[in-house]
Amino acid sequence: MTDPLADADPVPYWLSQDGAPAPADPLVAGETADLAVIGAGYSGLWTALLAKERDPGRNVVVVEAGTAGWAASGRNGGFCSASLTHGFDNGLSRFPDEMDILERLGRANLDDIERTVDRYQINCDFARTGELVVATEPWQLREVTEYHASASARGLDVRLLDGPSVRAEVDSPTYLGGVWDRSGCAMVDPARLVWGLRRACLELGVRIYENSPVERITAAAAGLSLYTPRGRVDAAKVALATGAHASLLRRLHHYVVPVYDYALMTEPLSDAQLASIGWGNRQGIGDSGNQFHYYRLSADNRILWGGYDAIYYRDGRIAPEHDQRAATFRTLAEHFAQTFPQLAGVRFTHKWGGAIDTCSRFSGFFGTAHGGRLAYAVGYTGLGVGATRFGANVMLDLLSGRQTELTALKMVRRKPIPFPPEPVRSGVIELTRWSIARADRRGGRRNIWLRALDRAGVGFDS
Ligand SMILES: Cc1cc2nc3c(=O)[nH]c(=O)nc-3n(C[C@H](O)[C@H](O)[C@H](O)COP(=O)(O)OP(=O)(O)OC[C@H]3O[C@@H](n4cnc5c(N)ncnc54)[C@H](O)[C@@H]3O)c2cc1C
Repeated sequence: MTDPLADADPVPYWLSQDGAPAPADPLVAGETADLAVIGAGYSGLWTALLAKERDPGRNVVVVEAGTAGWAASGRNGGFCSASLTHGFDNGLSRFPDEMDILERLGRANLDDIERTVDRYQINCDFARTGELVVATEPWQLREVTEYHASASARGLDVRLLDGPSVRAEVDSPTYLGGVWDRSGCAMVDPARLVWGLRRACLELGVRIYENSPVERITAAAAGLSLYTPRGRVDAAKVALATGAHASLLRRLHHYVVPVYDYALMTEPLSDAQLASIGWGNRQGIGDSGNQFHYYRLSADNRILWGGYDAIYYRDGRIAPEHDQRAATFRTLAEHFAQTFPQLAGVRFTHKWGGAIDTCSRFSGFFGTAHGGRLAYAVGYTGLGVGATRFGANVMLDLLSGRQTELTALKMVRRKPIPFPPEPVRSGVIELTRWSIARADRRGGRRNIWLRALDRAGVGFDS
């Protein structure tokens, strides 16, 4: 049999599409701004856009180390979830008394993303298909049933599916049951969403500088100064939106580790191939193992197939060579074949990875530094496509100095538990990954280490 990965290009599918904007000029002089945003992924672009929408007269500059969306924002699965808490169960376990508010704010956030896509005519294939969470092992059935019970008790639009019903949606012999969250998630083309947000920012008068890494932040008379290799921005306020690349603010090193997640993209399926698996409702799909896969259709009927391995490289290095990992790609291809045996012979055209900003509570956290002149939002742990817009509003509220509904949230006021420093960090993460893989093989049974972490409210995920 031919190797389905033999011709796969080692680049993110989404970023290799037509339509990438020409890079903006780097910063080569002095600039001034009311608000300077560091980073042009979703987090930074939403912050700039919302700042202009709140106050069109505001002078806003974005400074990006590479090009807009080159990092996680342009290479993700494109699941744009209403969840602000890396899923309902994780939110419920950490913020039980705030969950109703967080769910309401998350739904409003997703609705607002949909409206923004319409308003600025962002062509990113936004489709509110919902998400299907499938059980592929008997112990996962218990988990999806419990998830359905607690989510439907809170009024979420979730439907419990038995084996035949879930296979009537998408036909895999591995499916034993599932839950369809019918409106809490949209599928997007991630790179086109970034490119559209970038264009919308420019149209509102935001000035964007690319290939301009900020190397240093210092206090200035009326705010902060950001230094790039050839220029400087003096800004009254700064929003730090650097995702997994958190080195500009040392305190974030305690809370965030870059964890690599990998994905494959198939060639477009023929009509007959698509008919063999159904998938007429085009939901995003995730299975419910601790090491989970996520997968979805693209607008031209490719399947993006990602997840499972979550790799932490020693010392937390983000490096181009980590974007490729042959062993993970092989594992993913094997699991794809087990899930969809009908698609034997389908080839993968792209394979890539990217760094996720993981924190121990799996959901974004927020704060200020430099006497309230800088705000940050980071730690989305693999579910930031939607939640970064919420985080952008949190940053703007924090910078305003006002008490708002968002700044009053425990989720905003509290920090995750920090990771230990290296070399203990690598050892702890390895032990946790090993324990998680073992739990998946042993009917979901968590060992003493995982139970201790659960009690402490600490975890490792992607
Ligand atoms: C393979 C993969 C699959 C994923 N799938 C999903 C998914 O399906 N759904 C979901 O919700 N989430 C998913 N995620 C996570 C999601 O992509 C992120 O949560 C989100 O993109 C984070 O956006 P961000 O703007 O905070 O970070 P980034 O997109 O990483 O952007 C940060 C930017 O800051 C810039 N920067 C860093 N340092 C500096 C500096 N010193 N000066 C100037 N600029 C700087 C970087 O160059 C970068 O462009 C996935 C991630 C990966 C890697």
